[in-house]
Amino acid sequence: MFTREVDWFSLSAVILLLCTAPFLVFFFVMVCDQYQCSVSQPLVELYSGEATLRSIWEKAPSFTWTAAQIYTVWVSFQVVLYMCVPDITHKFLPGYAGGVQDGARTPAGLINKYEINGLQSWLITHALWYANAQYFHWFSPTIIFDNWIPLLWCTNILGYVVSTFAFVKAYLFPTNAEDCKFTGNVFYNYMMGIEFNPRIGKWFDFKLFFNGRPGIVAWTLINLSYAAKQQELYGYVTNSMILVNVLQAIYVLDFFWNEAWYLKTIDICHDHFGWYLGWGDCVWLPFLYTLQGLYLVYNPVQLSTTHAAAVLLLGLVGYYVFRSTNHQKDLFRRTEGKCSVWGKKPTFIECAYRSGDGSLHHSKLMTSGFWGVARHLNYTGDLMGSLAYCAACGFGHIHPYFYIVYMTILLVHRCVRDEHRCSSKYGKDWKRYTDAVPYRLLPGIF
Ligand code: NDP
Repeated sequence: MFTREVDWFSLSAVILLLCTAPFLVFFFVMVCDQYQCSVSQPLVELYSGEATLRSIWEKAPSFTWTAAQIYTVWVSFQVVLYMCVPDITHKFLPGYAGGVQDGARTPAGLINKYEINGLQSWLITHALWYANAQYFHWFSPTIIFDNWIPLLWCTNILGYVVSTFAFVKAYLFPTNAEDCKFTGNVFYNYMMGIEFNPRIGKWFDFKLFFNGRPGIVAWTLINLSYAAKQQELYGYVTNSMILVNVLQAIYVLDFFWNEAWYLKTIDICHDHFGWYLGWGDCVWLPFLYTLQGLYLVYNPVQLSTTHAAAVLLLGLVGYYVFRSTNHQKDLFRRTEGKCSVWGKKPTFIECAYRSGDGSLHHSKLMTSGFWGVARHLNYTGDLMGSLAYCAACGFGHIHPYFYIVYMTILLVHRCVRDEHRCSSKYGKDWKRYTDAVPYRLLPGIF
């Protein structure tokens, strides 16, 4: 167990987020339902007295038992796929790392094992969705869209239950007490999490399940449901909707194909599990990462061929930069630098650091390939892809552009947070690295 003091700035940011984030999600979904996705119109109406907070609230669909049933079936199904169906896809998909995999070493020195079966869960879920749409017709493919705001209440219930459970569990029965992080502030503990890797039993890992399953498997289904709604309402699906579906499906499939790599990212390696991850995965991700498709249901934009081609190009180049950068670091770290990057042996800086128990370790920071161009080109690629999803919606409203604003804040903040951590970890070796690679996201600019 370790403790940390929280500064006033972090604490204020945490309390502000806890108080505003649920309303922000409601706002972005509600404006589509009531105002055709105009962000300014409700504000103008509120200002002029034409609408009140109460009238907006009363017009919003409320919780329904149908939505509760759909969501219960959905989450239970994902739990069953996660817990009861060991991965077999790695046996016949060359190059795919599934099945039981090791995570990174935790601050207390543990290496957890994970059952990597996300790709399989995604494939089974989508095969069933397809079979339903084509043959069985048990439910309409627009089911998600048709219950969208009632589902928002259900996801909020789960998000708060999971975060509160993780919080109480950390005090009463932590999975590994050595890896718990307490601060003197209860809000901060609740939001940023206490336990590092809370688990139930040997295999139900909260971080992997909530980060990767109910939200990210649903992401592509939510988009398909939006496309089905366009078809139902207008009799056609726009090229913008197809672009959003395709580009985001590439991102989701990439996530599952590389789920074992994901075990080594900041979410799993450094963040503790609290409201930020628990509520964020259940509510923020499925509702705000899919805003473009939602917007296109209300505003069916048909793009010119040039515009569509430009969006596709931006999305694919962004994806290439994102994936190649992540791949280069993964390859470099796995082979301890004994590999080839851009046809050459990678260059690097040798670093030393001490872990919590005081023992000395060594590591390497790559200074060639994409990691020699800037320190976080993986974030830059991610941002290019995010901008492409937004640009697919045309320029009629700012609503779909919320995503790029949010991703920029998220990744810039993450970059600063990560660099602060690396600087404390590696000390003067980190300084040598930042001297060798001076820019963070955009060479010559930032
Ligand atoms: P990174 O994969 O960039 O990992 C950062 C860590 O890599 C550092 O803490 C350090 O860890 C190590 N490192 C830093 N520089 C080097 C170097 N030059 N050579 C070798 N190792 C280095 O960060 P994330 O985990 O945040 O992101 C992974 C991906 O996930 C990104 O592409 C990001 O865009 C994406 N992402 C997407 C989100 C979304 O909501 N769509 C949210 C968050 C991330 P160490 O201590 O081991 O040295």
